[in-house]
Formats: sequence, structure tokens, C-alpha cells
Amino acid sequence: MHERTIALVTGANKGIGHEIAVGLGALGWSVGVGARDDGRRADAVERLRAAGVDAFGVPLDVTDDASVAAAARLIEDRAGRLDVLVNNAAIAGPMPQHPTHVDPGTVRAVVETNVIGVIRVTNAMLPLLRRSASPRIVNMSSSVGSLTRQSGPDAELTAGPVAVAYAPSKTFLNAVTLQYARELRDTDILINVGCPGYVATDLNEFQGVRTPGQGAAIAIELATLPDGGPTGRFFDDAGVVPW
Ligand code: NAP
Repeated sequence: MHERTIALVTGANKGIGHEIAVGLGALGWSVGVGARDDGRRADAVERLRAAGVDAFGVPLDVTDDASVAAAARLIEDRAGRLDVLVNNAAIAGPMPQHPTHVDPGTVRAVVETNVIGVIRVTNAMLPLLRRSASPRIVNMSSSVGSLTRQSGPDAELTAGPVAVAYAPSKTFLNAVTLQYARELRDTDILINVGCPGYVATDLNEFQGVRTPGQGAAIAIELATLPDGGPTGRFFDDAGVVPW
């Protein structure tokens, strides 16, 4: 049996996902760097190893059944189980995304990555997670997926731009997470959604105000929840986010 805690972070080659890998690696964990591009994945693994992280590359395109199945086999062969899955990979899709003008293909592509991709990866990894003593699943969402915030009086200030693909994809992901939490309620698996805040990354052309390291903190907190901790909840650094 592999001694170290084993984690997989999807979209770990850059941005918040990379910093999640840094943070989990600093705990002494073995971290799978899920990334779809061979060169970007190799660079990320090299950076992490140079920083002392026990990192290994996991070729992974979350939109591709065969790629996800191969990723599960790779982790099974390496460790025989998975302790923590961080579903971080996502796309924003081309902006602007006004509902009255949007290309339906944009909505489809964003949902395919941000929602179906999470379901695909989670279900492929579940048999490995079930072998862990303290399995955790963290889904990286966003407060722009909060219907409370989108419909509140301060929406123009707190709910991001009008974006009919990206924001609802995170609402959908939140709802999907709740369904998993309900089905898995009688297991040891804790599954929650986290919002990193507004972080300067490629996703928003570096308009965000937080660092990727700050954005990663909530994922690390949810990845390290104690047994019996919360499940089916939505958190950011300040606490509970309204659905
Ligand atoms: P990012 O810098 O654009 O990184 C996204 C990562 O996802 C990249 O590694 C990207 O890989 C990967 N990815 C995209 N599609 C993929 C696919 N089909 N298969 C595998 N990997 C794929 O974005 P980020 O800002 O760090 O976002 C990380 C998470 O935080 C996302 O879930 C995002 O929605 C969430 N979030 C971000 C903010 C923010 O302000 N930045 C706010 C709220 C929530 P490539 O390099 O190959 O494209």
C-alpha cells in the first residue's frame, strides 16, 4: 500500500490548480498533475519537483472518456487508490456571453468541460477513492454560480459580468455536487464546492485581484477536512457561500 496521501488535481499545469498542487505537495502528499498538454504537464511536474513536491504527471483531458479512463488506470497502477480528487479544470469560454447573442456551441463546450468533465472524472476515480480511509472530493466552483448572488440587489458588484455559459455552468456544478453528496451520504467521502475568489489567471486575462496561491487555499482546506466534516456545502475563505 502506498504510504503517502495520494491526490489528483485536474488542470494543475497553471493557475489555481498548479498552486493547489504546490499546497498539497507541501503537506508531503504525492500529487498527480492532471493536464491535457504533454509539454505543459511536463513543465509543471518539473517545477513542482524542483520545489520538493512528490509530483507525477497524469495525462488528462476531462472531456475525453478514453483519456479519463487511462488516468484512472495510471493512478491505480501507481498507488492502488486515490485519497483526494480536486476537480479544478475549467474553461470560461469566449466572452462576452450575453444570453441574447450567445453561440449555443459556447454553452455546450463550457458545460462539457466544467460540469460533464467533473462527472466523468469523478466517476472514473470513485472506485479508487472508495479504497481510501478518508476520501475527499473538492469541486472548484465560483460565487458567480450562486443564484442568491446573481439575483441579489448587489449582483452588478458581486456576481461578475453577464455570462450565460460560464456562470450557469458553476450553478450546474454546485447542483451536481449536492446530488453526489446526497448519494454518498452514508460513505466516508466528503464532497464540497469551493470558490477561490477573483484570482489573476488566464481564465480572466489576469484581471483578478487575488494570487493563485490565495485562490488555492480553500481547495487545500476542503481537501484536508477531518473525518465527519461537512459534505455537500459551498465555501470560500470567508465561510459558507449561499447557493
Ligand atoms: P486557468 O488558469 O485558465 O486554468 C485552467 C486549467 O484547466 C488549466 O490547467 C487548463 O489546461 C485546464 N483545463 C481546461 N480544460 C481542460 C480539459 N478539457 N482537460 C483538462 N484540463 C483542462 O484558470 P484558473 O483561474 O486557475 O481556474 C481554476 C478553477 O478555479 C476553475 O474551476 C475556475 O472556474 C475556478 N475559478 C477561478 C476564478 C478566477 O478568478 N480565476 C474564480 C472563480 C472560480 P490548459 O492549460 O491545457 O488549457
